[in-house]
Amino acid sequence: MRRGDLTGALHAAVRDDVEFLFDDSVDTLDQTGHGVDVTFRGGGGRRFDMVFGADGLHSRTRHLLFGPEERFHRYLGYSFAGFTMRNTLGLSHKTVMWNTPGRAAALYAAGEDDEVHALLTFAHREPPFDAIRDPEARRDLVATVFADAGWEVPGMLAALRDADDLFFDGVSQIRMPRWSRGRAALVGDAAYAPSFLTGQGSSLALVGAYMLAGSLADRDHAAGFAAYERHTRGFVTVNQDQVGEGDAALFPTTPRALARRNDMLRDLSALPATTGRPAHSALTLPAFSRP
Ligand SMILES: Cc1cc2nc3c(=O)[nH]c(=O)nc-3n(C[C@H](O)[C@H](O)[C@H](O)COP(=O)(O)OP(=O)(O)OC[C@H]3O[C@@H](n4cnc5c(N)ncnc54)[C@H](O)[C@@H]3O)c2cc1C
Repeated sequence: MRRGDLTGALHAAVRDDVEFLFDDSVDTLDQTGHGVDVTFRGGGGRRFDMVFGADGLHSRTRHLLFGPEERFHRYLGYSFAGFTMRNTLGLSHKTVMWNTPGRAAALYAAGEDDEVHALLTFAHREPPFDAIRDPEARRDLVATVFADAGWEVPGMLAALRDADDLFFDGVSQIRMPRWSRGRAALVGDAAYAPSFLTGQGSSLALVGAYMLAGSLADRDHAAGFAAYERHTRGFVTVNQDQVGEGDAALFPTTPRALARRNDMLRDLSALPATTGRPAHSALTLPAFSRP
């Protein structure tokens, strides 16, 4: 399922019951009164009973509540650029990938479209903070890393130069000792991003939101936030632990590891169908009663 389709389905499910404020963001949070006083960048302020930060890996809500991202950021040694480009290979419902140790280029066709998702991933020792802040620097960094690459990569680099939807970031996790402070809590990537190497980020965000809402259904914020953590943290940890630092099986950095990865991928199709669910997706969600 495409990210935009999931977002659209979630929005459609609640838009008649929930007030949405688009193109605005939280500027300050103040918990000194009996609630959370919020001011918005767009102007004005309001008091809420509780605040939930679901604003992703680089969450500003987390920064306001817990301090700088560096405290919780676990960089996994890779950076990536994602963008859409013309489907010149006529791909349909498939992903094709080119690799050398430490570099991968992938074209991903979710359906039958004139456009495909392009992904350029590469090993990079330090988090690419400069390139994250500067659009030209990120294009230059990716172009330099892939300068001598073959396959479809020259065309991908040309498309990258013109892309208006370029997304660039380090591959990172967020690990926090707790996910709430006072009447405010974090959910999804803001609290426990597992990184795309796990393929589990959307699942964790949805499971976390469900557990948070259910935990608060018949409790006050303090007991509800404690229950949310108690019942969700184990599942989050199992998922985050799928990736070891600098050891992402999908994007190996040595020729030997790359050969092993290729053998593993070849063997996948020959494996018998597994029975049961692996631990990282084996959470049975409890049923919560509506308040
Ligand atoms: C290349 C790539 C591939 C991935 N593949 C998969 C996959 O196959 N399967 C999977 O499960 N997961 C995958 N993920 C991870 C998944 O996208 C995330 O884990 C998931 O989107 C997290 O959801 P979220 O709602 O917590 O955060 P996000 O989806 O990041 O949403 C945060 C939202 O908050 C908004 N926001 C940010 N800051 C502010 C602010 N200051 N004020 C107001 N709004 C703000 C953002 O605009 C955004 O809309 C992938 C991620 C990447 C980068």
